Amino acid sequence: MYESRSRPAGDAASVAGSEPEDLGPAIDDLATPIWVFDLVTLRIAWANRAALAFWKADNLAALRDRDFSDAMTPVVRLRLEELERGLRRGERLRETWTLHPDDEAVTVTCFFTPLPREGGSMAMQVEAHVVEDEATLQDRRAVEALRYAATIFLLIQDDGALISFNPLAAAWFPGLSGAQGSLVADILRLEETEARTLLSAMAERRAHSSEVEVPTAEGRRWMLLNARPIPDPLSGKTAYLIGMTDVTDRRRLEEERRHYENTLRQVVETAPVPLVVSRPLDGQLVYANAATADLFGVPVESLIGRPVNGYYLSTDARQEMVDRITEDGAIDRFNVTLCTARGRPFAASVSARIVSFKGEPAILAAITDVEADTVARRVLADALDRQTRLNEAHQEFVSMLSHEFMTPLSVIDGAARRVARRLKGPDEDGESAAWIQRIRDAAGRITHLVSEVLMAARSDNGLLTVTPEPTDVCALVETVVDRHQRIAPDHDIALETCGLAESIAVDPQVVDIVLSNLLSNAIKYSPGAGHIRVKVEGNGDGVAVAVADEGMGIPVNEMDRIFDRFYRCSSSGSIPGTGLGLDITKKLVELHGGVLWAESEYGRGSTFRFTLSTDRGEASTGE
Ligand code: ADP
Repeated sequence: MYESRSRPAGDAASVAGSEPEDLGPAIDDLATPIWVFDLVTLRIAWANRAALAFWKADNLAALRDRDFSDAMTPVVRLRLEELERGLRRGERLRETWTLHPDDEAVTVTCFFTPLPREGGSMAMQVEAHVVEDEATLQDRRAVEALRYAATIFLLIQDDGALISFNPLAAAWFPGLSGAQGSLVADILRLEETEARTLLSAMAERRAHSSEVEVPTAEGRRWMLLNARPIPDPLSGKTAYLIGMTDVTDRRRLEEERRHYENTLRQVVETAPVPLVVSRPLDGQLVYANAATADLFGVPVESLIGRPVNGYYLSTDARQEMVDRITEDGAIDRFNVTLCTARGRPFAASVSARIVSFKGEPAILAAITDVEADTVARRVLADALDRQTRLNEAHQEFVSMLSHEFMTPLSVIDGAARRVARRLKGPDEDGESAAWIQRIRDAAGRITHLVSEVLMAARSDNGLLTVTPEPTDVCALVETVVDRHQRIAPDHDIALETCGLAESIAVDPQVVDIVLSNLLSNAIKYSPGAGHIRVKVEGNGDGVAVAVADEGMGIPVNEMDRIFDRFYRCSSSGSIPGTGLGLDITKKLVELHGGVLWAESEYGRGSTFRFTLSTDRGEASTGE
């Protein structure tokens, strides 16, 4: 019947060993079952013969050993604790209990007498009277159920004084124990207004229900309090049965949900995306956020409750959209033309889902004004179109350059060379030869310029190619150096080669163009005269070339821009140039698996260095 794991196991025999004799043989002979229950060990310590029969025990020792753990539910424990509190106050108590002597419920009216023990622990004498009348049994059963209910019950008089309460009430409100007759509002420490409302409901014999926050053994808790009038069976007067359930967790969850809903509402209200909810059948708008009102140029209130059809340029388009949503449950980026309140049409993209709004199926739609995007896309497409046409024109111009310029230029140069050859001899005219040389120089400069432009265009179109072949690099660089020495006789160009194999796999054309560009720059940017040193070294990976001059040098803050297309240093002044040479040179070197870089001291000269890798197979910018 009873169980207590929280209590220390005491010695049942200590009660049983001394007190049976004290109780006397007369008690043993009584027809009423009487036993001693130890409230520490929660076991029976002694029982008279009638009690042994009641508990269906063969002898006292067997009954003492009986374990009541299974019956010791939390409510039973609460009830026992409350009982113990009463006994400690010296009260003799009468209560109805349902006991299970042999798996069968027996309702008994018990009289409990306190048996305080040395050391302060408590035992009690239990005198049990079996209730046999069926009607009484049913009533008892109802009372028991009330006692064990998981709801706190208080029975109070109509003036608010406490009559009775169940064990759960005593556990939650320890102040109730022994407080019969005191005002419940005071014991529960109800707020004044709450206490008044309860009392006035009771005065009018009304039922009352409210949620109150009260201090309990578990701290401050919210309780749902229900008070309803019932007749007091003893006095016949109107009493009140108060039921209380802890609703703190529910209130906390509700509070959290309210907070969450508020946040969500705020998010939706202030979302920069227009959001609307409409009814699928009649197309009536049931919700629209502020962004929607802005988009359509009307206050939110004038949108709600009106049909959305008016905002579609074509109602067919809306119908098609609704059909698709109904069929698939959703649509994504449906393109449609909408109209503002003033009738201005605009392109929009609508994504929508079927949702439940206030219990009804509804369409939640997010609208994106794509008008601005469409315009921007059109502008971009136009720009792209223009650029493509420009590129085509550029291509045409470049191929025109190569045919219409290069051909006449080589004709001019060839003709000038022939005339020069004829002039050589006995009747050589020195002045004419100088003129012819000027024609050839001018033609050479234009040829160089045109070939730079052509090369840049080929680089843009991925047409620059590198085709390594076994090359006598030493002879090749000598040729290039000689050519430049002839063009610039005032400059002193020194060539130093070392470690070069007889044949190295490089693209001779690339070597020629790169070295020529660097040499002509070295000459150009060393106005007057000066020493130029060209050093060509063979290394395991290919060749390393350095072209050093003692010219004007490059300003420090412009060093990292000299390889940019069309960039010309502030120091280049009136020296002719296009800013294309280094850009092309760098691309060719890189295409050949090498690197090109420059070192310079402004006012004292520059050194350009590059490497070419030999393990570079055929390559092109179009790879
Ligand atoms: P360009 O010589 O046609 O102007 P480049 O691309 O060959 O174009 O060179 C870019 C710029 O780098 C030149 O304008 C010049 O200012 C600077 N530069 C190149 N080589 C030298 C050099 N050897 N000495 C000084 N400045 C140079």
